Formats: sequence, structure tokens, C-alpha cells
Amino acid sequence: MMLTAATLAPGEKTQAQTDSFKYTDEQFADIQMLRYKVEGFEKLPLREKTFIYYLQEAALQGRDILFDQNGRYNLRIRRMLEKVYTDYRGNRQDKDFAALTEYLKRVWFSSGIHHHYGCEKFVPGFSETWLRGVLKELDYTLDEEIYPVIFDPAVMPMRTNQKDGEDLVITSAANYYAPGITQAEAEKFYTQRKPGADPRPVMMGMNSKLVRNEFGELAERVWRIGGLYGQALEKITTLLEKARPYACTPEQQTVIDRLTEFYRTGDLRTFDNYSIHWLKDTESLVDFVNGFTESYGDPLGMKASWESIVNFKDLEATERTKKLSVNAQWFEDHSPVDSRFKKEECKGISAKVITAAILAGDLYPATAIGINLPNSDWVRREYGSKSVTIGNLTDSYNKAAHGSGMDREFVIDEETRRLIAQYGDACDDLHTDLHECLGHGSGKLLPGTDPDTLKAYGSTIEEARADLFGLYYVADPKLVELGLTPNKEAYKSQYYTYMMNGLLTQLVRIKPGNTIEEAHMRNRALIARWVFEHGKDRNVTELVKRKGKTYVRINDYEAMRHLFGKLLAEVQRIKSEGDYAAARQLVEDYGVQVDPVLHQEILSRYERLHLSPYKGFINPVYTAVRDAEGKITDVTISYEEAYADQMLRYSRDYNTLPDVNE
Ligand code: ZN
Repeated sequence: MMLTAATLAPGEKTQAQTDSFKYTDEQFADIQMLRYKVEGFEKLPLREKTFIYYLQEAALQGRDILFDQNGRYNLRIRRMLEKVYTDYRGNRQDKDFAALTEYLKRVWFSSGIHHHYGCEKFVPGFSETWLRGVLKELDYTLDEEIYPVIFDPAVMPMRTNQKDGEDLVITSAANYYAPGITQAEAEKFYTQRKPGADPRPVMMGMNSKLVRNEFGELAERVWRIGGLYGQALEKITTLLEKARPYACTPEQQTVIDRLTEFYRTGDLRTFDNYSIHWLKDTESLVDFVNGFTESYGDPLGMKASWESIVNFKDLEATERTKKLSVNAQWFEDHSPVDSRFKKEECKGISAKVITAAILAGDLYPATAIGINLPNSDWVRREYGSKSVTIGNLTDSYNKAAHGSGMDREFVIDEETRRLIAQYGDACDDLHTDLHECLGHGSGKLLPGTDPDTLKAYGSTIEEARADLFGLYYVADPKLVELGLTPNKEAYKSQYYTYMMNGLLTQLVRIKPGNTIEEAHMRNRALIARWVFEHGKDRNVTELVKRKGKTYVRINDYEAMRHLFGKLLAEVQRIKSEGDYAAARQLVEDYGVQVDPVLHQEILSRYERLHLSPYKGFINPVYTAVRDAEGKITDVTISYEEAYADQMLRYSRDYNTLPDVNE
């Protein structure tokens, strides 16, 4: 599971930036590119640098997999656009060419032709006639079936459709199910294969595409060497093997061995074994995720998109999360959840703050700021999980947000702004730690509850559970006692920004007329609106109008904490019992709809600030310095590469998959 950054991290700091490092980079469409600094990389010993070097190469080799997972025409479209972008013979100042450039930048950003967050298809600002003319001039043949995919709004309108009542599989462009397979068929296929009484079920379906075989029956095409995506997985495996001698510990070498075995066999039991070795490895300075991981892109929440992150421990900041993880049992015991749904024994919860060294696949360029893995319920129950907060990315978001004008526009008064400026960043970090390190790891399913029961609502409910755990505890005196919050007031900054984001400002990410689709956004809306509604009778929080502008006002922070606790108890019950009907009602009632009048107001206030609602990161560039024998003697890092140059280089050097993958 992962945690993405909220729309903004308000809190303006006035101190001048003394650092020459540039945190912000170019803007296009609704995107601002940022850079992150890999603090401490230069000081690492050569062994760790070399390890990171090979791991980041392995990370970048998976790029094409995600493009293909996000839609079966994506690789062909990207390659065609890149050809035009590089070889265009006309005037590069033309408005059509400029529109194509913007479209390509968005395709790169989303690893496909749909918005990375909202899932809706991009509308190109150039015409089909113009494109046909240009391609003819370049002597480039684009398959006829692809033109409507780009230009006809009715074809593949959504990558991952979550609209209640529709056939989510048929109406999603994501390439996890072959064309023509219905939701009912896919669900039946997997229900029939449920390993009934197995207390340690593998995560069925997570590493395959569902297709129809020559007899018309459904079958899985497994992502493995020799199978689907085999060419990319082979390259990744080779690089993981090159990295292996430089691993931090023998245990970490076992992690690599299990992972490469999984890439060779596609065997899900091997994947669980790999996950267990991975989560137990908490001592290594350098760590990585490389594989089929999160299932947000699959409308049925089963099939995992490929991603990778390579990182090393931020030792100082990790002390903070250690305080939480050693007290995990205390938090579990004191939570407002019914005792039937609590873990008797919190096992193997580890948490650390990491410095990201490279982002790839589904973590690039848009990324998570926290990760909690593995996702297997039984592995989590019996072995625990590993949680990370990505310190240098959070830091970069914060630096970019300061001075953006967001809080001046949307925070109700000076006093609240001061509170946020003073405690906002620290409490945000703390909420992320609580969400990842304790929230996702807390609670248990009742015996016999199928972990997939909540289906399309599963991701939203799970994120809500983790967020609520964090919201409830960020206000706990225990945190003051542990020295994690400076005083009993600091948490209010988090409550205010959370409510403001959930009720108002996250709407800047939604286009007029659309509903909320993405799991993390649905979760934030759900929590904020539920608490708003249920606190009405006691006036806990209200929306007030001043000069035509809507603001959140919180009148009773303590009562708000009580409401977060109440909702946490209910959400945990839904998860533990697998109450699909209640999950559906909660999400549909509070997490999906958008009030068009309020929406328009927020959009126009936001527009005047000239900000981009979405952010992503340009990766640093690593270069291996080699001696005459080819042995690595140093690895250097640079931050100069421009966004388009990086993407074109990746397309050239990590070009692992053919146009069509079936
Ligand atoms: Zn999460």
C-alpha cells in the first residue's frame, strides 16, 4: 500500500532558501516537475554506491511494463509521438507541434494516454488530420486502429473505471484483461479458484493478464521470463544478479535470490517467500522494491502494476519512526476499535525513514511519500510488514509548497495559518509515519473473512483505515510523551489541513463535471465529509462564507478527534467482517460526488494562484566511473537532466518490450 501526497502542504516559511539546489522545475498541463536531492549519496562507501547503481539500472528496465499495463496501445503511441517529437521537420513553434509536445509530456508522465490520477483520457490539442500529414511526411505508419484511441473520446475513455453499477472490466482501458472479458466472467474465474480453507492464500491473479484462449475459455498469461513481459524481466533479473555481490547482508542476497526466482517462475508462493525475506530485512542500509506491487490500477484491485524504488536509510529520522514501532502494541491496545478486530500481538512492525535514490515504474514521476508492504494479508498477520516514509521526497514537496499562496487563499484566518506554519510539516510527517507504520499494520480480519470481499471499494477503505488511525493518534498525549509532537496543540494543524483538503482543496484535481475516482482522494473526501456531517449537530466543524469564499472552520478539535475514532471503529469493522454493502454505501455516500457550485468556486480561486495540482519528480542521473578493466571505482550523481531529455533517454536505453505484448 502506498500513501500519496495530499494536494498541498500548506505552511509558508519565510526563511530564504540558501541552497542552490533547484527543487522546482518546468510546468506543463496540470503538472509541475520537482527534483529531489539524494542527500548523503556521495558519502556512501563504494560498495553501497555500486549496489545502488545496479539496482537503479534494474529499476529503470521495467519502465515499458507499466506503459503496457496501463493500456495496450500505450507503447505504440509513445513511440510514435517520440518519433514526431525528435524528427519533426516543420516549425517547432507551430501550435500543433506545441500541442503534441504537451500531449507527449503528459503521456510520459502518466505512462500512458490516461491521466495518472483521474484516469480520464487526455484530449489532444492537435488534430488527426495534422498528425496524419506529419506521419506521412516522416514515412511512419501508425496502425489505423490507434487513431480513434487517440482522437475519439468515446474509445477507452477511462483507464481504471470505478463507477458503481458499470462493468468495471469492460469499461476500463487498463490492460489487465483482454478485450471482451466482462467483470462477471473475471470475478467468476477467480472465485472458482479461491483456495477455500488455505489460511495462507497466495495473492491470486496479481502477476498475470487474464485472456481468452483458443477454446474461448479464460486463462492467465503470467508475467515472467519466458512469459508475458519476459524480455523486460530478463533484463531486470540480470541487473539484480549484478547487484547481488554488493548486497548489504547475506539475508539481502536471499531476498534477491527469491525475487529473481519469482521473475523466472511466476510462482506466487515464491513471491510470498520473497516478501517474508524482504520484510525481515530491516538492518540493511540500502533497500529496494522491484516488482509487481500495487493494485490500484486494476478495477478489481487484484493485478499489480510494476514499480521500483531504490533507497537508503536516513538514520537520524528513523529514530522518530522507531519510537512508534516499538510502541505498536500500545497503540493497537488503545485504539477505539472493537477488541474483536484488534491484533493480540503486533508482530514485526518495522518503520524507517528513507532517502529515495531512484523512482521507477508506477512510482515515477508521480510518486508515493510512504510505502507499507507487503500487501498479502496472511504475511502481514504472521510476519508483519515494513513501512517507509520517504524523507527527501516529502522535503521536496514541502519546499515547493512554501510560498505557493495556497494557505493564504484557503486557510480561514491568521491564527490557523500560524499554527500550520509552525507545526504543519512536522505533523504531516508524523501522520505519514502513523499511517504507514501503524495504520496499515493494525487490526485483523475475522477468521473466514475473504480479504478480497470489498472488491472495488477495498483500496479506499484500506486507505481510510490507515488515515484514520493516523488522525486519531496524532492528537494523542502519548505522542507528546514520546517527544514526537512538541505540545498538545500541534495536532490541530494536521486536523485543519486534512479537513480543508478533504472538503475543499483536493477538488482542484478534479475536472468540472467529473466525480472522485482515485482511492486516496475518495478516502480523504469520505473521512472529511463523514466527520463534517456527523459533527453538525454539535457544530464541530462548519463551512463558512466570507466575501463569497468558502472556508473550513473547526470549532471543536477534541470532538473532531472523537469522530475520527468513531469512524475508525466502523471502517475497521467493515474491513474485519468484509461488509461489502457497508463499504459501498460509505464510499458512495461520502467519497465520490462533487458539489458543482463549490467545485467551481474552488477551481477559480485556485486558478488565480497559477499552481499545478499534480507534481512529479525528475530522477537524478547516476554514472559509473570504471577503471581500465571495467571495474566500478566510483558512482557519480547529477541533477541537471531536463524532463524531456530524461524521458527520451529512458525510451532509448531501457527499451525492453515490443510494440504489442500478448
Ligand atoms: Zn496507505
